[in-house]
Amino acid sequence: MEGMENKTYKCSFCDKPEGPNRQLIGNPEGNSFICEECITLCKDIFRGKNRKISEQELKLLTPEEIKQKLDEYIVGQDEAKKVLSVAVYNHYKRINYNIIHAKDHLGAPDEIELEKSNILMVGPTGSGKTLLAKTLAKILNVPFASCDATTLTEAGYVGDDVENILLKLIQNANYDISQAERGIIYVDEIDKLAKKSQNVSITRDVSGEGVQQALLKIVESTIASVPPQGGRKHPQQEMIQIDTTNILFICGGAFVGLDKIVEGRINNSTLGFNADIKTKVEKEKINVLKQVQPEDLIKFGLIPEFIGRMPVYVCLDELDENAFVQILTEPKNALVKQYIKLFNMDNIELNITPEAVKAVAQKAKSLKTGARGLRAIIEESMKEVMFTAPSKQNVEKIIVDENVILGKESPKIIYKEKKEEAV
Ligand code: ADP
Repeated sequence: MEGMENKTYKCSFCDKPEGPNRQLIGNPEGNSFICEECITLCKDIFRGKNRKISEQELKLLTPEEIKQKLDEYIVGQDEAKKVLSVAVYNHYKRINYNIIHAKDHLGAPDEIELEKSNILMVGPTGSGKTLLAKTLAKILNVPFASCDATTLTEAGYVGDDVENILLKLIQNANYDISQAERGIIYVDEIDKLAKKSQNVSITRDVSGEGVQQALLKIVESTIASVPPQGGRKHPQQEMIQIDTTNILFICGGAFVGLDKIVEGRINNSTLGFNADIKTKVEKEKINVLKQVQPEDLIKFGLIPEFIGRMPVYVCLDELDENAFVQILTEPKNALVKQYIKLFNMDNIELNITPEAVKAVAQKAKSLKTGARGLRAIIEESMKEVMFTAPSKQNVEKIIVDENVILGKESPKIIYKEKKEEAV
């Protein structure tokens, strides 16, 4: 503030005084000032609107390459993997296209605009929905955040504001906003936001619908204000601005009962002139969920605008026992491989017999929680030996067979001196 009399000036925006760490810039009249901190805040606010696109283009993998990588981690779900690979490829191709055009100033008024295609995944619990979304982000090396739709609320209600998902993404991108702006967000249990069925009663679940509306805003392209500390927004609070245009949203849910709605529609439409198809659905137990139409989702309770924002539909199959066996043994970080590695670190060889693996798969199937139950079953059978083995001397090998999984026996410990003992 050269040339001005010796007086302490204050920032006209935040009211903080000038100091060694707070330089002020004044207007020509010398009656209003702004400090560096407020300028930075203003820059953040405007960055979404006037940003210079300087981001690097993403190195794109082809859909086939993406699927091959998914195959390394995820068992089955072939069709879902294909649809997802294409959707994700198109999504990032679109971002690159926009970056190139912005760089070269190629924008023309009649240019074809590539719209974002968010993804809706329908599949039973534990069929790999979260894993697919997470793995996609890993393959593409973009930030990832997941949340449970049931914890979200409309602004003004008790619970998490919808913007908190964006904060999670920003945190996972180490506060690099431009990275976060091309990340992937997975919203689980989206089906729980359905308003109660139109024909059950007149009581409507307003809150579910409200959250859908709130979510819709960030799923669409918007510049959202996120409170840096999370929690509720306060007036006067500084906000992080984040543009959601290029964030890919994947929503997933089990949609229990949706099959009946689809089946009803198919049966109704075929009734009368081709009654055979009606029974075909029942007889062959074809996965009717693969034939979902937007109208079915509306009937289920999602609002049309929300469905409109989720144009890519992916259906996952329920996993069977064989798939469970594969999940336990085949993927890059399969559970059995993980346990073997854990024991190897203590120089102990772990042998989980093929019969034991099969027993785990059977047990998981009866729990009806999909592949989610697998880890808990192994953990339960192994907890005692995992507690005691590391402190025992000369343990060479641990054998887990079918009876251990069935809870009839404890794992066998083989000692280097060929001493054998139950835990
Ligand atoms: P969902 O989101 O469909 O309920 P998750 O993706 O959370 O299910 O699956 C739970 C766990 O089960 C995963 O962390 C993974 O270990 C395992 N899992 C589920 N499906 C698969 C699959 N298709 N291939 C490999 N592992 C799977």
